[in-house]
Amino acid sequence: MDILQVEHLTKTYGSGDTAVRALDDVSLTVGTGEFVAIIGSSGSGKSTLLHMIGGVDRPTSGTVRVSGEDVFQRSDEQLAVFRRREVGLVYQFYNLVPVLDVVENMCLPVLMDGRPVNERRLRAMLRTLGLEGREHHLPNQLSGGQQQRVAIGRALMNAPAVVLADEPTGNLDSRNSADIMELLRRSNRELGQTLVVVTHDEDVALMADRVISMEDGRVASDTRAR
Ligand code: ADP
Ligand code: MG
Repeated sequence: MDILQVEHLTKTYGSGDTAVRALDDVSLTVGTGEFVAIIGSSGSGKSTLLHMIGGVDRPTSGTVRVSGEDVFQRSDEQLAVFRRREVGLVYQFYNLVPVLDVVENMCLPVLMDGRPVNERRLRAMLRTLGLEGREHHLPNQLSGGQQQRVAIGRALMNAPAVVLADEPTGNLDSRNSADIMELLRRSNRELGQTLVVVTHDEDVALMADRVISMEDGRVASDTRAR
């Protein structure tokens, strides 16, 4: 089954002379459990595409369906719930809340949903992420690699069907990059999670089942690994 269905997606920022067409009639589908890398030069629309799939921002036209449901038929309130429960977002610069510790950052989407934290899952995640013993450290007491692990923990706490990562290794050295990708890859394989990663990193693209290349807001090529 295709968990993601993107049809004729267009996003224009601004209007008149200064309008920028960041996405220009993009259509694609992604199968459940697929690992897709999105590559392309800066400004080609990669982040915009990821934001549309994740319901972070609304498109100018076109549709996105996740698990068959039209994402943008939802109200803003429903969209916020969709982002917390159904997708996991990971960014280049971690975006942790500076005054919250490791556990609080990881549990934030669950708590914002007013749901109880699954303590067993939390313990298992802390172990998998190598964050045991750091539960009560603040983000500024952690290395970049550790902060990205917390961000991944936060994205995965709700076990979302789709994980969207925008240059998750862009700020890390090669050792930490490999570890972070290994964590995402393992979750993708073990939980059958669909993984979409925007990347400049050739090593990351080589791990993927499929590589989509963007150019000027369009899909320039779409290649499956043999
Ligand atoms: P990429 O992630 O591939 O570098 P983006 O999706 O961020 O590209 O941007 C695509 C185009 O849209 C660029 O020309 C960028 O300047 C423009 N853009 C992105 N976000 C905004 C925004 N919030 N307001 C105005 N223009 C934007
Ligand atoms: Mg980008």
